[in-house]
Order: sequence, then C-alpha cells, then structure tokens
Amino acid sequence: KQPVLEAEHLRKDFPLRQFRLFSAPQAVHAVDDASLALYPGRALALVGESGSGKTTVARMLARLYDPTSGTLRFRGEPVKLAGGAALREYRRHIQLIFQDPFGSLNPVHNVHYHLSRPLRIYKHVRTAAEEREQVLALLRRVSLTPAEQFIEKYPHQLSGGQRQRIAIARTLAVQPEVLLADEPVSMLDVSIRLDILNLLLRLKDEEQLAFLFITHDIASARYFAEDTVVMYAGQMVEGGSSEEITQRPKHPYTQLLLSAAPDPDRVKAGHLATIPERGEIPSLINPPKGCRFHPRCPHVMPVCRERFPKKTDLGAGHWTNCFLYGDGGVNPTGTQVADQ
Ligand code: SF4
Repeated sequence: KQPVLEAEHLRKDFPLRQFRLFSAPQAVHAVDDASLALYPGRALALVGESGSGKTTVARMLARLYDPTSGTLRFRGEPVKLAGGAALREYRRHIQLIFQDPFGSLNPVHNVHYHLSRPLRIYKHVRTAAEEREQVLALLRRVSLTPAEQFIEKYPHQLSGGQRQRIAIARTLAVQPEVLLADEPVSMLDVSIRLDILNLLLRLKDEEQLAFLFITHDIASARYFAEDTVVMYAGQMVEGGSSEEITQRPKHPYTQLLLSAAPDPDRVKAGHLATIPERGEIPSLINPPKGCRFHPRCPHVMPVCRERFPKKTDLGAGHWTNCFLYGDGGVNPTGTQVADQ
C-alpha cells in the first residue's frame, strides 16, 4: 500500500519574543528532523513524554502549524504551503481529534448544529430532511443510540465520553482519509477510555482511515497501533512495528518508557501508564548538544555529547538513532544492549 500522508525531515522552531535589544534571537526548537508515513487502515502510535514534540508534529501534519522546514506529501503529491481553498480542501482530508472533549464543543450549540455544519460546508446534503438523516447516521456510527435522543442535546447535557464521540462524529462528517488523535482519552474517566479507543480502531478499520495515535503511554500504543515511533525532546529516536518496539526495544529511552509501562491486561482494563521521574526533558530553547537524551542515558559515551547519531536500520522495519547500534550503518542484530 502507498502512504496517504508522508512527512519528511519536518522541523519546527517557535521564535521567542526578544526583550533586550541586541540580544541573540532565541527559539524553541520543538521538532527536529521528524519523518513518518501513514497508511490506509493502519495506526501509527507516536509516543513520548509531554514536551517531546508529538503534538507539534500532529499540528504540522494538519497544517495548523507551518513547518519551519521539511516536506509533506498527500497521496504522493507534495503539499503546497499556501492557504485559501487548497488549504481548506487539505484540512478536510486530515482531521484532528483533540485531548479535551470539554473545550472542543461550543456550549451554545446543540449536537445537530455541531454535526450538520461540516455537512453543509462540504455540501454533502441537499435538504433539511437529508441533513437530519445524515446527522442521525453519524450518531449511530459512534454508537450514540438511540440517536434521536442525542440530536437536540447541548454539550452540558453530555458526559465526557459522549462529547468525545460527538467530536469523533464531527470529523467523520467530512469523510477524512487521515485521523490524528492527540491523547484522545487522557482526560476521560478510566472506565470509558477503552470504549473510545476501540471505537476509533473500529472506524479506522471500517473506513480504512490512516490513523495517528499520539500518546505518552507506550503500553497502550502496543495495544492500539500496528507501528510505533518514539520521540524524545523533539527528535524521533526509534521506530518499527509495535510488536518489535515493545518486545525488543533498542533505544535506552524506549527501554525507560517500557520499564514504566503496565502489563497489557491492565491496559485492556483501561489503566494507562505514567512515566517515572528519572530526570526531565531538557529545555528546547538550548537543547543538549548531540543526542538530546545523553544527560539521562545510562549508556552515554563521549561521542553522544558531540553529535546526533544517524538512523541505523536494525532489520524488519525496526530503526533507531543511537550510537550503541552504529551511526547510520545497517546492523540487523543490534546486540550491544540486552533486550528487555
Ligand atoms: Fe544514550 Fe548515546 Fe544512545 Fe543517546 S546515542 S541514547 S546518549 S547511548
């Protein structure tokens, strides 16, 4: 299969306002050299602590932020960084589900308004009766039934899980090809997290959506995505199939994340992990030179403080950026660090 959406060497710097005349311009280097590909009917988990750059990557993919440099390709064609109608059409195909279901719906409008608006904008309906039918169908697709009971409700009459289902239905209204879900359940009650994640996975399969699942919890990534990429301090450090990454992690940061992850049975029961306090993500204004993980890494070597390692192919689609496994060369065994 060809990827629907590809990102190559994305970089995002946020310039900081200067308060002192003649001081050197400063910027937050939020994302550095991020590349990924999203395929129809397949989920990619983007994993890392908060501040690792995951959300910035998703916002660049959705064109809510313009990359400082790098390229995006949609259906194989380079995405032009212009605005206007082309941008609107691009955004229709690439939909983002936010973390906060309480802030994503306007409290003064009911469910019918929230779901009919995108239908009207993208001209999928001709009459009021057809519009109502399509809104009811959207509610059924996200398992809000009987749909007639939900259509007139206002956000304050809905639970967090029901609001997130409305937000998901709203993205489906425009028939997207790519769904970017940014920690879609982290603000919901533990008891309903799994239901919402399973709904997203069902829709991914039914609609053959290319799905980016952003999470700080590598254990849930293992359960919900075919592929995983791990980010640390704005850089991608390891990627491959979720099975490979979680069973045979190579990068010391991935190993740290996994050491904190709960077992899969607890994940299925809705428990999501938190990362232990073992140092902090460094400042992205002046990130550490070389490998940004070196101040926390138990295997740090002198070269790690000098430059960032090139991507090393470990075989079977598994790769990492770590000097323990080489510096860009092919090393299918990756035996220097014991598997966990
Ligand atoms: Fe640790 Fe060096 Fe690998 Fe970075 S490159 S993770 S500092 S061993």
